[in-house]
Amino acid sequence: MEFCPKCGNELELRLCPGEENMIPFCTKCNEFRFPMFNVAICTALFNHDKTKLLMMKQYGRDKYSFLAGYVNKGEEAECALRREMMEEMKMQPDTSEFLYSAYFQKSNTLMLNFLTTVTDESLDGASPNEVDEVHWFNSYDEAYEAVIKGSLAERLLKTVKPFFYTK
Ligand SMILES: [Zn+2]
Repeated sequence: MEFCPKCGNELELRLCPGEENMIPFCTKCNEFRFPMFNVAICTALFNHDKTKLLMMKQYGRDKYSFLAGYVNKGEEAECALRREMMEEMKMQPDTSEFLYSAYFQKSNTLMLNFLTTVTDESLDGASPNEVDEVHWFNSYDEAYEAVIKGSLAERLLKTVKPFFYTK
């Protein structure tokens, strides 16, 4: 960050009490300006016995990815997860656990990745405004074929591979 997002003044690096690194400071506002970024949630969504994994096509893309969405200001990540699941799929999480976070430079977003299970497998609640296509994948290999290689979705899929129950 080079300029103050509030007043536009050029920032200078200063030592901030309690911080190890120099932090951008606005001399006009007399305030430190900590780095800003977006926060989003993303979830690998399994059915109850983890034999099926849900992925969706969005924004006109031809590959599949996971249910995801931005965390609003003041909102907890767990609430954002429940809200996005409701908005996009009308689904309620049965269980959910945090897995890991990953920073995505292109959209300046810290992605918080979860593993969620649902009891109701119905796809009828998919929002036509937000979801182009949604599909339950019955195996890891089938799901792996469907994601963009090198994407955050591929990494999340690889992470949840051990959870995928194959008969
Ligand atoms: Zn300022």
